[in-house]
Amino acid sequence: MRIVMKFGGTSLKDGPSISHVCNLIKRYHHHGYQVVVVCSAMAGMTDAILEVLDKASSGDEEAIKRFISNLLDRHVEAAKYAVSDEKLLEELLKRLREEIGKLEKVLMGVYYLGETTPKSSDYALSFGEILSTMVVEKCLRSGGLDTQFLTGGEAGIITDSRYGSANPLMPMTLEEAKKRLLPLLERGVVPVVTGFIGKNTEGFTTTLGRGGSDYTATLLGAAIGADEVWIWTDVDGVMTADPRLVRAAKTIPILTYEEAMELAYLGAKNFHPRALEPAAENLIPVRIKNTFAPEKAGTLVTRHEPPLLSRIVKAVALIRGVAILTIEGAGIVGGASRVAYEVYKAMNEAGINVIMSSQNASQVSISLIIPQSALQKALSTVKRATEGLEGSLRIEAEDDVCVVGVVGAGMRGTPGVAARVFSTVAKEGINIRMIAQSSSELSISFVVKASDGLKVVEALHREFGLDKVDQQWGE
Ligand code: ADP
Ligand code: ASP
Ligand code: MG
Repeated sequence: MRIVMKFGGTSLKDGPSISHVCNLIKRYHHHGYQVVVVCSAMAGMTDAILEVLDKASSGDEEAIKRFISNLLDRHVEAAKYAVSDEKLLEELLKRLREEIGKLEKVLMGVYYLGETTPKSSDYALSFGEILSTMVVEKCLRSGGLDTQFLTGGEAGIITDSRYGSANPLMPMTLEEAKKRLLPLLERGVVPVVTGFIGKNTEGFTTTLGRGGSDYTATLLGAAIGADEVWIWTDVDGVMTADPRLVRAAKTIPILTYEEAMELAYLGAKNFHPRALEPAAENLIPVRIKNTFAPEKAGTLVTRHEPPLLSRIVKAVALIRGVAILTIEGAGIVGGASRVAYEVYKAMNEAGINVIMSSQNASQVSISLIIPQSALQKALSTVKRATEGLEGSLRIEAEDDVCVVGVVGAGMRGTPGVAARVFSTVAKEGINIRMIAQSSSELSISFVVKASDGLKVVEALHREFGLDKVDQQWGE
């Protein structure tokens, strides 16, 4: 079996977790599996780097010092716990200090310039994955495995220059990754690759977007013709709802690629939205498994599911941290479609991710759901895009909303699901602000006030019997 195994930050949060992960990898390797390992940054690290970049650009030198010292402590402590061979540990500590020294210089550069560019931000973010992957690689080596550390770029992930959410260049990435990884696997070496990061054709570091290590794993899986890709995380698999929000959430044993992609778009499991694409295109099964309960089956994502397991609704997702932007008006020359054209074009050029949209064909009334963090930029973008249009437009924004999404392939062609969803919401006395159904009919999503989100998710979870999923699916 040839498997790509990706370990999320929650599986690499400290020395004991890293040791545990390496024991798991060793076990599969000893059973004769060819394994490619993909690592995320240690839990919380990417957020911490983003935060210090922000502080550095606003002139907070103390924050840089504090951050660097914590970063060093955390990795040195993990390294000392996880790497028993003294010589390897010494080598590792030296490499960690070198890399952290580089990151400090980058942060000081940001401090002196007073600004972060997407390019410098990606370079800084890449250190999260580089440091954690170095520790994992040395831990495996100290456990007797023949290993090779590779950055995403070294492993063949070549991207365009859209810093912050770069797109892998195909087919170059698949060819390069195959060329670099297969000879290693054939010699019995375990490649240990940084997730999330790639490089552009000029050799500069890029990142694939948040949650991008999942995407690295499936890209490499497609490149080497893996039998399966395993995504190891801190929960039992993909669940019927975010287990942090809904205590009754259950593990979903099987999902189709389409369902999993839909859930990823709706933010479930913090999956990278494109992570399932390479797997679906190459029909590679993906398993989501719990690092801390590896004996459990987890979730299998595959093309078809056994008919008995199919359900109308499989999961309910909640996207928080979003804002709604509404553009309304009358008497515009060219009408709603003209405004929509200008607005979508400008949002795309500004790199703002429109999560959901709805549009009224007759009168101008366009609603867009965007990340809260992009609201100010979106407001100025929309104002600029509509300035030249004749007629009057009102632009309004609210940032206390959330999106609820209901997903399941069984909804396709099953009449009455939408009515059941909306009557459940109505029974709770909650007002729906905006509705969208995916064209594939795999999901229905709608917008409610942020304070109502959790109540709606719980009500729908109950209504579709998702809390009883284990019994009904005969697990
Ligand atoms: P990792 O570090 O493994 O990449 P993530 O934070 O990206 O982990 O994703 C795992 C987390 O996603 C879980 O801890 C869980 O709280 C959250 N989550 C949200 N929705 C779901 C869902 N439907 N199923 C499973 N986990 C979910
Ligand atoms: N470390 C990155 C993030 O937090 C990538 C990943 O974990 O998949 O988004
Ligand atoms: Mg993740």
